[in-house]
Amino acid sequence: MVSTNCSGTNAFRYGTMKDWVINLTIVLADGQIIKTRRRPRKTSAGYNLTSLFVGAEGTLGIVTEVTLKLAVIPKETGVAVVSFASIADAASAASKLIRSGISLAAIELMDDVQMRIINRHGSEAVRKIQWDENPSLFLKFSGPTKEGVDGDISQVRNIIESNNPQKYFFANNKDEESSLWAARKEALWTMTSLKPEGHTIWSTDVAVPISRLAEIVDISKKEGKELGIFASVVGHVGDGNFHEALMYDAKDPALHASVEKAIHRMMDRALEMEGTVSGEHAIGMGKMHCLVNELGPDTIHTMKLVKQALDPKWIMNPGKVFTVPEDSNVSPAPRHMGF
Ligand SMILES: Cc1cc2nc3c(=O)[nH]c(=O)nc-3n(C[C@H](O)[C@H](O)[C@H](O)COP(=O)(O)OP(=O)(O)OC[C@H]3O[C@@H](n4cnc5c(N)ncnc54)[C@H](O)[C@@H]3O)c2cc1C
Repeated sequence: MVSTNCSGTNAFRYGTMKDWVINLTIVLADGQIIKTRRRPRKTSAGYNLTSLFVGAEGTLGIVTEVTLKLAVIPKETGVAVVSFASIADAASAASKLIRSGISLAAIELMDDVQMRIINRHGSEAVRKIQWDENPSLFLKFSGPTKEGVDGDISQVRNIIESNNPQKYFFANNKDEESSLWAARKEALWTMTSLKPEGHTIWSTDVAVPISRLAEIVDISKKEGKELGIFASVVGHVGDGNFHEALMYDAKDPALHASVEKAIHRMMDRALEMEGTVSGEHAIGMGKMHCLVNELGPDTIHTMKLVKQALDPKWIMNPGKVFTVPEDSNVSPAPRHMGF
């Protein structure tokens, strides 16, 4: 998790992994063991080596110890789900909620395809609810008092009223909260349960400024539909981050090439919108080719200088983030894709 700087639905309130790491113990490529800093929450002593290793995908050193900050578990929570006539309405409502300053703990989007799937393939608890099969926002609230959380929930209705909300689901107790949020949690598993034998799911993510989110989700969905394959969108909309999953028969070379093209177009589009090719799944092998487009040659050159200084033989997770230089003796791991 440290090495991919990962995050999830709670990142909207709490930030991503990088915000929680105080220090790291690292084994460097030459066998030296270093600690990036000491234990206080705050320091301005020296370079921020902790951040250098968070998100480095194991290409700079091996993490053997992590000191993390802890958060207080909120006493009171609430969950609501609201469906909308279109992705644009849902994204605009999300943007208004974010700007309202209401203390949301999470704000997630599931598209019409994903909502259809949970109605049919969700767990028993999830299928008890008759979900509206329209793009829906999943909202989590939390705070120290019940009055505060209830106040936030009632404000939500007023704020999104002009965005064509279709159906509201508000949890009245903890059980209902779990059932409503379970639909979001089951998104991935309900989708993978549909996968025919031999098919692949290519799941990828990008992030853009929230003002461009509706546009990129709409275009990506349209392109997925044109391919004639299963395509669904789930988004951490609070962070302008969404995942598209494309399910197809990768043994069909023409189809595989079309899917690959569509994914590349999505990455290019995210960059045109001043976004990033990877909100939370890092670069690995699959997104190496986009990195230079996102960061530019000078930034890439600076990153490679750091890599070269810390790992001159390119032995740390070779072939990830950057291709291994030809004059190195290291062979990168074989490439695989999908799951
Ligand atoms: C189905 C699925 C759903 C996902 N959903 C999310 C999501 O919602 N949000 C999100 O942020 N991410 C998500 N991810 C990606 C996620 O970030 C990573 O899978 C996860 O954080 C990595 O943890 P892991 O323990 O599986 O590490 P691995 O996959 O084993 O490793 C991840 C990276 O860290 C490196 N690494 C591993 N151990 C060390 C070490 N000791 N020192 C240095 N480097 C090391 C590896 O080389 C690799 O580059 C998802 C992935 C999958 C497959």
